[in-house]
Amino acid sequence: MYKVSKYNIIRKFDNQKIAYNSYTKASLILDKDSNTDAFENIKAFEKLDKDTQKILIDNGFIIDSERDEFAEIKYIFEKKYYDKTFLNIVLVPSLACNFACPYCFEKGLECGKQNIKEYFSALKKFAKNNFKKYQCVQISLFGGEPLLYAKECLEFLKWVKEDSKNNDYDYFSSIVTNGSLLTKEMLDEFLSYNLKMLQITIDSDKETHDLTRKFKTGEPSFELLIGKIEMIVKQTKNNPNFNFVLRVNLSNTTINKVKKSLEYIKPKYRSKVNLLIRSVYNTHAYKDDNSNNNTQIDEYFAMGEELGFKIFQESFQYQSCEACADDNFFYLMPNLTMWKCINDLTYNDACFGSIDIDGNVILDPTKSVKWSKHSLSAFTDEKCKNCKLLPDCYGGCILKKCKTCKKQCRPFEMVSMFHVFR
Ligand code: SF4
Ligand code: SF4
Repeated sequence: MYKVSKYNIIRKFDNQKIAYNSYTKASLILDKDSNTDAFENIKAFEKLDKDTQKILIDNGFIIDSERDEFAEIKYIFEKKYYDKTFLNIVLVPSLACNFACPYCFEKGLECGKQNIKEYFSALKKFAKNNFKKYQCVQISLFGGEPLLYAKECLEFLKWVKEDSKNNDYDYFSSIVTNGSLLTKEMLDEFLSYNLKMLQITIDSDKETHDLTRKFKTGEPSFELLIGKIEMIVKQTKNNPNFNFVLRVNLSNTTINKVKKSLEYIKPKYRSKVNLLIRSVYNTHAYKDDNSNNNTQIDEYFAMGEELGFKIFQESFQYQSCEACADDNFFYLMPNLTMWKCINDLTYNDACFGSIDIDGNVILDPTKSVKWSKHSLSAFTDEKCKNCKLLPDCYGGCILKKCKTCKKQCRPFEMVSMFHVFR
């Protein structure tokens, strides 16, 4: 016996309809006149031919009548949230950067006096006591611009490589960088420390990029970055464990302008570039009207695919935000404080502890509990419990919920779709 999934969503776009299931993330692109009753009514489903029925069953639009999808989603979310096998630590040794992007959420902020030597010394002591407790540790390098401290980051990763062998755990690394300082030699070294992902960003089109992602000195960076992108792809093309992610920020731009900038990357390199496209959003430090938003992203992805790029597949399913959802995730800031989210460094309740110079963790349980209460609140909120977007949204941005004690309904977006059948 079958029933219709609670998480089927039908949306109309210009010349088509999309049937999307927020639990499985499957999407079907349909003609604009298609009858979609089968996604809402089991009797209509039963009238379909066997092949079509199979597609709907295989993609979770129609499910076994015994299943309780809400209970499954809650179980998956909580299991992941409290997973003790994996640690993701994001290193922010400094907020210093050689770029001056206007929308940077770290702009004008400090997080204590930076002391790179002390930072890595305390981090190593923390790592010595803690990394061996996990099956796998992800070390994500972030900033500021992390490659300003490439030497220290590499020394630390070298130590982790040794420690992981001695204590039998896995590790891998990732870098979000502006790309300007990356050299061939540096990349080789990072790759020897299980570098699985490196992300560089361009802004919309060349002209916009050179105005926004410019050096502090005022120099433009677009052409330099295109050169770096080609270097990365050439050097990693035979490495199946590495993903290069090119983030494209949309801000008051058009599809044709973005297409033009992507065409700067030679066709032979494009299949090795994973496109991640996002619109620039407002933060406490940056406010601007943006004609772009994430509901248009499908068109941009289709254009990218046509040019021969890969589309970045999100791996953050079943958590409430791209960054800070799990319990075993934190940013380690320059002053050794531990943060769940750094999008508003003026909001101190996101800082739930610190590491002392001997690597000991000093936790603030009140803030930890507040964060986790808001992370999990969608499962008790009546509106969220009955919401078709629950598996995409989980009550929305935790930071905003902590600040306002209100859920933050997310609009229907294309960003979580990855199984698209046309
Ligand atoms: S908590 Fe909110 S602001 Fe922070 S990373 Fe998650 S979604 Fe973004
Ligand atoms: S916050 Fe709003 S959109 Fe998100 S799950 Fe709850 S009711 Fe749905």
